[in-house]
Amino acid sequence: MFETLSERLGGVFDRLTKQGALSEDDVRVALREVRVALLEADVSLPVARDFVKAVETKATGQAVTRSVTPGQQVVKIVHDELVKVLSGDTDPGTLKIDNPPAPILMVGLQGSGKTTTTAKLARRLKEREKKRVLMASLDTNRPAAMEQLAILGTQIGVDTLPIVKGESAVQIAKRAKQQATLGGYDVYMLDTAGRLHIDEVLMDEVQAVRDVASPRETLLVVDGLTGQDAVNVATEFDGKVGITGVVLTRMDGDGRGGAALSMRAVTGKPIRFVGLGEKMDALETFEASRVAGRILGMGDIVALVEKAQETLEMEQAERMMKRFQKGLFNMNDLKSQLEQMLKMGGMQGLMGMMPGMGKMQKQAEEAGFDDGVLRRQIALINSMTKKERANPDLLQASRKKRIAAGAGLEVSDLNKLLKMHRQMADMMKKMGKMGKGGMLKQAMK
Ligand code: GDP
Repeated sequence: MFETLSERLGGVFDRLTKQGALSEDDVRVALREVRVALLEADVSLPVARDFVKAVETKATGQAVTRSVTPGQQVVKIVHDELVKVLSGDTDPGTLKIDNPPAPILMVGLQGSGKTTTTAKLARRLKEREKKRVLMASLDTNRPAAMEQLAILGTQIGVDTLPIVKGESAVQIAKRAKQQATLGGYDVYMLDTAGRLHIDEVLMDEVQAVRDVASPRETLLVVDGLTGQDAVNVATEFDGKVGITGVVLTRMDGDGRGGAALSMRAVTGKPIRFVGLGEKMDALETFEASRVAGRILGMGDIVALVEKAQETLEMEQAERMMKRFQKGLFNMNDLKSQLEQMLKMGGMQGLMGMMPGMGKMQKQAEEAGFDDGVLRRQIALINSMTKKERANPDLLQASRKKRIAAGAGLEVSDLNKLLKMHRQMADMMKKMGKMGKGGMLKQAMK
């Protein structure tokens, strides 16, 4: 039985006190456990090592959200990084099948689930994308495999190329192309022969088929339970034939799916689909966050940390709102507003959420508000003393000069900031007067 990562980390972190930010030690101790968890989930050693190193750099010094432990925080960071590594740039579920008839080449070892996956994909293309699909089995050594594809075809209502005894794989591929063109099919799928192990003859045959078919997609089907072997198979096939993606089968089993991470890290090829059972509808588009959760065995912690972060943001917003209602809006408030805007992707994001802010939003746009401006304004506020921030009325000429110089800016920049602060403070006061049921409250809902 696997011990889940959360259980492992629980033990380690019970002894740690809560603190504001993750120390190097916190991170190191937690990541030692993460590494073991990855190895247990079948991630290969070099991949696990590199992955952990990358996370270590990222996690050290990160703030720990209140009400979660450092261990839980580390798990969240690890999870997010896993998702990043697992996700490709392309949408995994979208196959390149324009220009009919589009050939899709299915490759893989015998027993990996190749024939089943070919039929599952054909069914998906037919049902979801309303494509006319033709399937052909190239497994000339195993008549049973050809029969199997024909049976599945009948079952899902997808045509298969009639079986002609004595033809070579290349001949079948040519006939499939011809038939697909003449018959007006959108897609034709070539289910190549599998072997128990990779051998030269197999690779030569697959290469020859590839050369006559020029497939738009070459999908490698691998058994997700075979861990490191699956990665070796993928490396071989990619080197010899060139693959455009991977389908991991048997992800419904007990395995933890670590092969997915190794596969992605080693081959750089995207995982496109996962097989989740023997039935024809048991095929899903690959979803990085789901597989990440499974590898770590800690989906509950990720949800917990996300919730805690949300709660914290809500609390901050509420606290701020209470100040506004009292008509309080000093430079500290402005600073946290500016920081919030930076986080939310600029001025528009925040202003757009508040009624009555439309005019200011426009001004902001006209003034060319961008991240650089926000950052310079924050620098100006940082350059003020505590007293000055709490009471901006103190700012006379000499103080202004000092503050501007401290931020490496001009007094005119500071004046602009002060003007903006005054406008915002007025606005807050007006809103505050509208009382508890006022606009601001409405806007925060
Ligand atoms: P091939 O030799 O690679 O063509 O493999 P097959 O398609 O014949 O599949 C071998 C066995 O694996 C069959 O019994 C399939 O039903 C089963 N299989 C295929 N994909 C999956 C999957 O995603 N999950 C499970 N549990 N079984 C699968």
